[in-house]
Amino acid sequence: MRYALLLHLALSAPAWASPVVGRAEELVSCLRSSLSPQASIVFPDDPSFANDTVRFSSYHEPTFRLVSLIANEDDARASIICAQKTETEFLFTKPGAHGIYSGFDRLKNGLQISTAKFDKIEVEATKNIMTVGGAVRFNDVINDLYAVGKNIPVGSSPCVGILGAALGGGIGRLEGLYGLIADSLLSVRIMLPNTTVVEASKVANPELFWGIRGAGVNFGFVLNATFQIYDLPLGGTTFSADFEFPLDAMKDLFQSFKEGAASMPPPLCISTYMTWSDTYNATTMKVNAAYAGPQSDGRKAIRFFSDIPALRQNFTDVPWNQLLDSAFFVNGDQSAETCGVDYGSRSSSGAAFNELTVEAHVRMTELFNYMVTKYPQMRGSDNSMYLCATQAVRALSNDATAYPWRQALGHQTWGIVYPENTTDATIEYLPQRLRATIADSAGTDGLATYIGFSRGDEPLESLFSAEHLPRLSALKKKYDPQGLFNAYHPLPTSYP
Ligand SMILES: Cc1cc2nc3c(=O)[nH]c(=O)nc-3n(C[C@H](O)[C@H](O)[C@H](O)COP(=O)(O)OP(=O)(O)OC[C@H]3O[C@@H](n4cnc5c(N)ncnc54)[C@H](O)[C@@H]3O)c2cc1C
Repeated sequence: MRYALLLHLALSAPAWASPVVGRAEELVSCLRSSLSPQASIVFPDDPSFANDTVRFSSYHEPTFRLVSLIANEDDARASIICAQKTETEFLFTKPGAHGIYSGFDRLKNGLQISTAKFDKIEVEATKNIMTVGGAVRFNDVINDLYAVGKNIPVGSSPCVGILGAALGGGIGRLEGLYGLIADSLLSVRIMLPNTTVVEASKVANPELFWGIRGAGVNFGFVLNATFQIYDLPLGGTTFSADFEFPLDAMKDLFQSFKEGAASMPPPLCISTYMTWSDTYNATTMKVNAAYAGPQSDGRKAIRFFSDIPALRQNFTDVPWNQLLDSAFFVNGDQSAETCGVDYGSRSSSGAAFNELTVEAHVRMTELFNYMVTKYPQMRGSDNSMYLCATQAVRALSNDATAYPWRQALGHQTWGIVYPENTTDATIEYLPQRLRATIADSAGTDGLATYIGFSRGDEPLESLFSAEHLPRLSALKKKYDPQGLFNAYHPLPTSYP
């Protein structure tokens, strides 16, 4: 790194920028001479810098000395070249980024290559395809597709980047019908670390395309991607059943989930959200069952748990584009997530499970309750589960894409709030113990985690699988031998 050298050099200020004393002169002048007029450089003392670099979670977040707000492909190329010339580490990301990773803080005083302007969505409804820019978020595609009677699998947070998710696999509510989010990817245009742009699809660079669908953050910046899209069932209405259960219902609930999971019809997905409830002054679990079909069929599909006594419940039909803003009793009120906001220091972690072991899930919820009871400052933490029908995910072989956990029945995740001065040691390593409780009983031969739900301390095999790592490391060696795209879950260039 040449940060020390670069930092303290002064530069005469161009008219359009604030003074650059103490900034990375060489990097700035390289960017200034190579970016297009539509691009801009944002400095730490510019009023917009905080908004341009804000992340959903500040947990181990990377830090940046400059933002290169790129407007096109050439700007992306110029930013990589300037960063390389000045030995500056970089990250392609955008305001409100949802990636959470304990290794992000290895990137200090780097260059944020801000992709915010890669926000175009082009829907070709008659061909059932959609092309999105590299920074497009779930809520953008949901609304644009809904307007033309189409949909695509998306995750549960409206602000997550569709490519950020798809490049790791992408878990969402329509898995039973359409598979992982990555399974709808038809092709990508990717700027490789050497700044050439190539297409990857099942016919063009197929091996790269295989790796992109599970470890795609490692091979370059996806400028845009084309996805298959689908007709909205029922003109767009989804049956949505919300429940809130007390802790003492957990045994019955998980027992019924275990019995019902194997025969869930493809349109059904259950998601859970356990957190501290001020209303009930207790830890409770909210459950949302979404059924992409008629209410009469949906009610039948959830019979395996819907009679368990709940604190409250609400059944309704919602337009598909409003599901994320209304599930879990939110009903479109202001508690729905706002994009571009820092929600404090929150780690994420997750464990996929091939089997649902009732005792382990109950123990895990008790441990979670212990955590938020003993450490009230952590009451904003949550513990969630995806238990969706999986027919379309399992229809492909485990080798079809680099995403390695197709046999998973579901995913358990934890969003843990770390108040100031809190470390894992001061909270009895509860985040790790919660995860181990599920992983040890999951029938997965050790911890198995979708990278989007990872924490950053997982062994490589738990993220990519020992089976896929030889192929993935060969791809890394071929496309990114210098490790330029190593900020988030880097792959090795050889394995084992
Ligand atoms: C509250 C919350 C809810 C979530 N819910 C879900 C869910 O329901 N389903 C699910 O699958 N995941 C979910 N995730 C996980 C999410 O998919 C990952 O965190 C993902 O990495 C976020 O991508 P991003 O683009 O929003 O963030 P970023 O931080 O910008 O991106 C994360 C990484 O992906 C890289 N990246 C992003 N876009 C591109 C691109 N176009 N080309 C190359 N690399 C790129 C970035 O460089 C970075 O390394 C959730 C995360 C959070 C915090």
